[in-house]
Amino acid sequence: MSYSVSPIGFVRSCFKEKFAIPRQPQLAPAARGVLELIAPFDNGDAVQGLEQVSHVWLLFLFHLTLEDKPRLKVRPPRLGGNQSVGVFSTRATHRPNGIGQSVVKLERVEAGKLWLSGIDLLDGTPVLDIKPYVPYADSVADAYNRIADSAPARIDVSWQGSALIQANEHGQRLDEPLVELIEQCLAQDPRPAYQQPSPERRYGVRFWDVEVHWHYPQPGSICVLEVVAAD
Ligand code: SAM
Repeated sequence: MSYSVSPIGFVRSCFKEKFAIPRQPQLAPAARGVLELIAPFDNGDAVQGLEQVSHVWLLFLFHLTLEDKPRLKVRPPRLGGNQSVGVFSTRATHRPNGIGQSVVKLERVEAGKLWLSGIDLLDGTPVLDIKPYVPYADSVADAYNRIADSAPARIDVSWQGSALIQANEHGQRLDEPLVELIEQCLAQDPRPAYQQPSPERRYGVRFWDVEVHWHYPQPGSICVLEVVAAD
């Protein structure tokens, strides 16, 4: 038996690569993007009423990590990447049908476009459906998850030399909260847990159209070295 689904739109996101995307929505409120709806959903009728909603659930495809062979166990980064657990006990991207779900803030709506913040979605992510967040039903006061019991610990982020000025300038040009985006994403410590960073090692990622470079002057803290236009 097989069924087919098709996207209702695609996300234009600040995140141009998987590295340094927060592991869940809401962890970086400055992470913004636009969901561009495709026909027939680009008609204003489809989003009529959404202006009364602060947050939406997005159901989407992990289009970059789709796999033919289903995995039963995965090693979530949350557990350091060396402990395996059942796929259905995690929010890992490697999963049957490759479906992701995120609650994101709806900043603005117009026919064919939803402006979003707090996203954890890669640029180009195909979205399968949008549903309004329903606080009385979706927020469970006594819920627990002993695998992921609280938001990941944050690490300190500082700025070297003119890096902060560069980030401010690019942020103004883009009309985006770029300084906050960098601080919020790097505070999640994007480095894989198994890598022990030496102070000499430089890391980099692209947000919007800029490259951000940083290093770890000591374990547990990040210093942003430069923010430059991407090639
Ligand atoms: N909130 C969603 C969920 O629970 O289904 C996603 C959680 S998943 C752990 C978050 C990670 O998915 C991000 O850190 C990013 O690396 C990855 N990701 C985001 N969009 C993706 C896409 N379109 N294809 C593949 N991986 C993606």
